[in-house]
Amino acid sequence: MRRLKLHHQILIAMVLGAGVGLPLNIFAGPRTLLSLPREEAPTIQAGPLSAELDALFSRPELAHIRLPDGAHVIEERAGKRWRVEGRREPYALRYVGESFVVQSGGYWPRTVAYYGKKVGDLFLRLLSMIVAPLILCSLVSGITSTGKLEGLGRLGGRTIVFYLCTSMMAILTGIVLFNLINPGRHAKLDLVEEAAEAPVTGLVVEGRGVGEILWNQLFNMIPSNPFAALSDPSNTSILGVIFFALMLGVFIIVVGGESGTRLTRLFSAGFDVMMRMTLFIIRLAPLGVLGYMLYASAGKGLDVFVALGWYVVTVAAGLSIHCLLTMPVLLYLLGRRSPHEYARQMSPALLTAFSTASSNGTLPLTMTCVEKRAGISNRVSSFVLPLGATINMDGTALYEAAAVLFIGQVMGYELTFTQQAIVALTALIASIGAAGIPHAGTVMMVVVLSAVNLPIEGVGLILAVDRPLDMYRTVVNVWGDMTACAVVARLEGESPPETVEASAELD
Ligand code: ASP
Repeated sequence: MRRLKLHHQILIAMVLGAGVGLPLNIFAGPRTLLSLPREEAPTIQAGPLSAELDALFSRPELAHIRLPDGAHVIEERAGKRWRVEGRREPYALRYVGESFVVQSGGYWPRTVAYYGKKVGDLFLRLLSMIVAPLILCSLVSGITSTGKLEGLGRLGGRTIVFYLCTSMMAILTGIVLFNLINPGRHAKLDLVEEAAEAPVTGLVVEGRGVGEILWNQLFNMIPSNPFAALSDPSNTSILGVIFFALMLGVFIIVVGGESGTRLTRLFSAGFDVMMRMTLFIIRLAPLGVLGYMLYASAGKGLDVFVALGWYVVTVAAGLSIHCLLTMPVLLYLLGRRSPHEYARQMSPALLTAFSTASSNGTLPLTMTCVEKRAGISNRVSSFVLPLGATINMDGTALYEAAAVLFIGQVMGYELTFTQQAIVALTALIASIGAAGIPHAGTVMMVVVLSAVNLPIEGVGLILAVDRPLDMYRTVVNVWGDMTACAVVARLEGESPPETVEASAELD
């Protein structure tokens, strides 16, 4: 029997998770939520309440809790469950921010959600595992494969400046749209409970100037010890890994000779293996999606879908503005090419990018289209495109920024201007570090979330709709590289051929 395509499997997992979770949430008993200010919190007769307290699996020392109205006395039964006298359903008790929350009802949905999350978490853990080695190998091999340093002079400078500027434009588009649409506000998810009492220290930045914060972010990009950055279990030092990998790649070329060749081969072999490993882990995505879908739909109900819908709209609108408006304008003004014509010439590569969701996979086709159908020289394309597939990902950058803001908002953190600036910078660096393979942006989300101290479980929320967004952002990534190629070629003195061989056969 033919194996189902991965994205079909993910879709099935999503539908299955929602199909089981939603009816459970809706029909398996109403839930009531009682929220009290902290000062009026119950008298806890034994032991403090911890943020992680889950009523179903709570700590035995919390024997008796009196609610302030005196009406409810909660007691422990059978070692694990909590019940309120006179009622039958179990309770969840937590401190959420400044309030004490008692949640009752919905035993089955909450149990299913609990185990669903466990499965999802396993998948997420595998993703976290691969982040550091994947980035190191991908960046070093991406840079060394260009093989020449003269490219890093004027041509390199122009290319890199163009890449950074367009990625930043994409991020700004994402952030502006996010602030207009506020997708997370449409979600009345009580997800904040998961993050309860976890202070978002990285985001508590009031009182310091933007300049200082950005400076600190830049300063911290230089790892004091690259080996420590690589082995940091929380993946918060990945920006340092990216910086070190970029320098390592450049200096492998500088040294060249026998040592250069050996290291180039080593990292390219490492990248092959890491890529296979990532793709293997991604194959488990249906399980992760199923788990997180159960968690979200059984635990939170319909609100999840409303929120995700607005999130998809926000990201898709941002991607559309960037690839249909911003890039064509740059292509026309700086590259002196007709955007419509150029897109037609590039269409085989763009369609491939869409269906494979991999800029790396599309690279050979991108190069062929750019050289054979648009008449750009190999000197420019062989430098600009591989570098672009490695470090220039406008779509991914936009997505990282919008997704982090969305996750923050859904979890109850409204980010200030300064905090959004930090997200923007981190998203830019994350997009540079993301490998050009399917779902690499999702892997990098872990990095961006931890860089701003948001809980990484947030990735679970957006996993279900990741594939279609991945396909679209890959097109935007590849289109960004192509546009850069046309612009840099023109700046290098190449003029677009008079008669364009739009129909030229691909090799
Ligand atoms: N799939 C994207 C690419 O290959 C990367 C990402 O996941 O954002 O360009």
